[in-house]
Amino acid sequence: VHVPFCAARCSYCDFSSGERASGAVERWLDLLEREAATRAPVAADVAFSSVFLGGGTPSALSARHFGRAWATVTRHFRVAPGAEITLEANPESVRPTLLDAWGAAGVNRLSMGAQSFHADELRRLGRIHGAERPAAAVAMARAHGFRGLSLDLMFGFPGHTPARWQATLERALALDLPHLSAYCFIPEPGTALGAAALAGAADMPDAEAQAEMYARLGETAARAGMTTYETSNLCRPGHEARHNLVYWLRRPYLGLGPSAHSLWGGTRWGNAYALEEWAAALESGRDPAGVLERETPDTVADEILMLGLRLGDGLRRDAYTPGAWAALVRRHGVGLAAAAATGRLDAHPQGWRVPPALRFLADDVIAWVAARAAAVDTAGVAPIIPSPCPSPPSPAI
Ligand code: SF4
Repeated sequence: VHVPFCAARCSYCDFSSGERASGAVERWLDLLEREAATRAPVAADVAFSSVFLGGGTPSALSARHFGRAWATVTRHFRVAPGAEITLEANPESVRPTLLDAWGAAGVNRLSMGAQSFHADELRRLGRIHGAERPAAAVAMARAHGFRGLSLDLMFGFPGHTPARWQATLERALALDLPHLSAYCFIPEPGTALGAAALAGAADMPDAEAQAEMYARLGETAARAGMTTYETSNLCRPGHEARHNLVYWLRRPYLGLGPSAHSLWGGTRWGNAYALEEWAAALESGRDPAGVLERETPDTVADEILMLGLRLGDGLRRDAYTPGAWAALVRRHGVGLAAAAATGRLDAHPQGWRVPPALRFLADDVIAWVAARAAAVDTAGVAPIIPSPCPSPPSPAI
């Protein structure tokens, strides 16, 4: 459920989000109800195992507005007992009244965007909270009974150094959380910091420095008992984000709100990105989704490759239907075997995975395998060229 409002725009972010004016929130809520009613029939027989309220900044909603959004979800969809219910929160907006409202609704996981523990870096990133606020928000959440807690961090942005990143990591790990996400900065052209980086006007760390920061992430978190279960996500045993595994393992999901994506019944669609466009479609009785894309065995195989190799376990036969696995092997079997033969992948009895030492380059390995299926002659492309970032930017708050 995409909540398209933020208190302020961060300097790196190009997510679908706008100002939190009360009229705009009420309109979004009215139309969320309309979209939910439209989509619900396809899920009439389904109990959802997870719900993710993301954004934007769901914690920017008042308790009353949050209550309306949650009532819309539960009026139209069945949420399974014990479901993982995550809400993205900006540490600045975490407060007792909201924690009470979230807890009463059944939210059992809070994902907070900390990004950094240095005040000057937070200012550069356009964050509205100070360096001490994430710890205070975590303490407040714990006092209200929340145990499923995660922090989002960012590295590799202009001015960032491995030493400063190490200090942020240590502050984050000292909070003793079960889950952590860390995303490498990607300069998005339409954002203030991204445009400056692309124009050469910002002091970007080079790819080697970013790779070092990524290595420090894995090493430092491992000392705190965490493993990297996805390129950008780490956790203590048993604390993987179930909802995100739905995306990575290609289980069906339904999205509501501007820019939300869905994969349901073998069809993919993405809602109009901007609030206004999404709202205008619903108000005029149109589907806010653009083109519906019917999956084919090749698109299924490409997605399994792209998403599955980001997982620490890699591609595992037992995670997919026999038909999906067969599609993967038919399309990418030769490339996967070649990647294993050249040390780009480890083969294991269940499938393949990116070796931990190459995880920063997982996207390059994936591209190398995919290129073979696309009948591109990669024979002369022996070395893997490091790309500056292993992951998309943080979706979070
Ligand atoms: S990073 Fe999060 S809080 Fe900042 S503008 Fe983007 S969605 Fe809003």
